[in-house]
Amino acid sequence: MSERALSCADISEWLGAYVDGEAAECLNVSEQQFVDHLVTCRDCLEEVLLTRRLKQLMSTRCAPDHAPATLKQAVFAQVYQASFTSQESWQSQTLWVEER
Ligand SMILES: [Zn+2]
Repeated sequence: MSERALSCADISEWLGAYVDGEAAECLNVSEQQFVDHLVTCRDCLEEVLLTRRLKQLMSTRCAPDHAPATLKQAVFAQVYQASFTSQESWQSQTLWVEER
């Protein structure tokens, strides 16, 4: 497998598969390739973290297929505020990614 550097467009396009843990299987892209980009690009890292948290919330609190769009937006807004309003929170998220 060639280990080319991913672009922001790649991350955005493959975000869903990555969060589902299916990037290597479905896209032939290693998780390390994602991590290499995420440690240098905060925009993409935020997108991944938000998607991951939103997915966790939706899977534990309700069935995603039946959740109204307004509820998804409300959860998304809450997750975003909880995640990125404090610098301390941001640093802990960064460390978590770098440890992987
Ligand atoms: Zn990026």
